[in-house]
Amino acid sequence: MSIRVLVVEDNPLNMELVLAILEDFGEQLSVTVAGDGHEGLQRFLELKPQIVLLDMQLPGIDGFTLARRFKEINAASIIVGLTAYGMVGDKERVLEAGCDYYLAKPLEVAEFKHLMKVLMETEGLHEK
Ligand code: MN
Repeated sequence: MSIRVLVVEDNPLNMELVLAILEDFGEQLSVTVAGDGHEGLQRFLELKPQIVLLDMQLPGIDGFTLARRFKEINAASIIVGLTAYGMVGDKERVLEAGCDYYLAKPLEVAEFKHLMKVLMETEGLHEK
């Protein structure tokens, strides 16, 4: 069974990069996309994704608010915060909001792939 992944990202180039990397995992993943915060919340409710790749700077509802909502709705969803701020204390803010992991943009392809593998193994151990 495919692992359900939701990608919430408003920047088309970042979305393209994320999807290109996820494509390498083939049918192991079932990927759904959302381009703003409201769509992200809607897709989350419909999909109950096991993994969420969440841009923190989003139109509509920002990623920090969304991360909190997602964890209230389904604490088992693994949330990876993506942020371009790169400011001191930003990682802490992302994790405080409820994200389980943090990746800085521009994304390091190898780092992102490695994290996905780790998460997929974790999910494989806990079939839902
Ligand atoms: Mn953004």
